[in-house]
Amino acid sequence: MKVLGVDLGGTKIKIGVLDEIGNIEKIYLYPTKEPIYESLEKAIDEVVAIHSNIAAIGIGTPGFVDREKGKVIFSSENLPGWSGTEVKKKLESKFHIPVIVENDANVAALAEVKFGAAKGYDNALMLTLGTGVGGGVIVDGKILYGPNGAVGEFGHMILYPGGHLCNCGRRGCQEQYVSGRSLERRMREANVDMTPSALMQAKKHNQIAGAIIDDFTYDLALSISSLQAAFDMDILILGGGVSHSAEYWLGDLNKHLKNLLFHPLKVEVAKLKNDAGMIGAAQLMFMA
Ligand SMILES: [Zn+2]
Repeated sequence: MKVLGVDLGGTKIKIGVLDEIGNIEKIYLYPTKEPIYESLEKAIDEVVAIHSNIAAIGIGTPGFVDREKGKVIFSSENLPGWSGTEVKKKLESKFHIPVIVENDANVAALAEVKFGAAKGYDNALMLTLGTGVGGGVIVDGKILYGPNGAVGEFGHMILYPGGHLCNCGRRGCQEQYVSGRSLERRMREANVDMTPSALMQAKKHNQIAGAIIDDFTYDLALSISSLQAAFDMDILILGGGVSHSAEYWLGDLNKHLKNLLFHPLKVEVAKLKNDAGMIGAAQLMFMA
């Protein structure tokens, strides 16, 4: 059986043709255009026209998703007009095959558990450190859901009450301390004029860079210790753009974690990188 795994992003739509063990037969890329739904449907239509044996479609999308209805409850301004879209209903009436819609961070977590860094673990938490911070929780091999489709919004757990203003309107959210943007803020405040990846590489011979990384990894360790207290997972996967430089700071993170965790925790960097959303979205169909 072949299924489509669709990773809908703010700039591109990535569609993979996959089998149940995660093998990717072919990947197609399309630009995300407005109106978003029409752009998505057209892209899928083109792939389905090439592959006549597609049995189902899994979609990973940013935002909160009503999984039962396959409807986007809320999505940010990155995807104008996307909030409220009945994705499942519309795609099923167009293509006449089953469609499952899920939050993109959740499907990435699922992909890492099935085929990536958390393979072999049933209880995993993925913390995605990108421009913002998000994630997904896998319990007994399945995505953990809430009634509002908002499990894994780790970026808005408050780390420092009264701290930096977050774009959610509150102060001190974790996103303001461990995201890519927060690293840039730390560098601005310290008058460090280099890219975040140059900063990571400079930490050994640059005291200011070392201090920034120490603060960043301490805050990340604080966040992870709270997540362990809440979820008691077997393994924590770090994903997102910030995780790409983890080789330079994972040691610092583990040093801080030693003093903050209740019990040892395996921390790994995501393996599937940019394919995780697509692979996880396809996998949804085999979990149903
Ligand atoms: Zn916030």
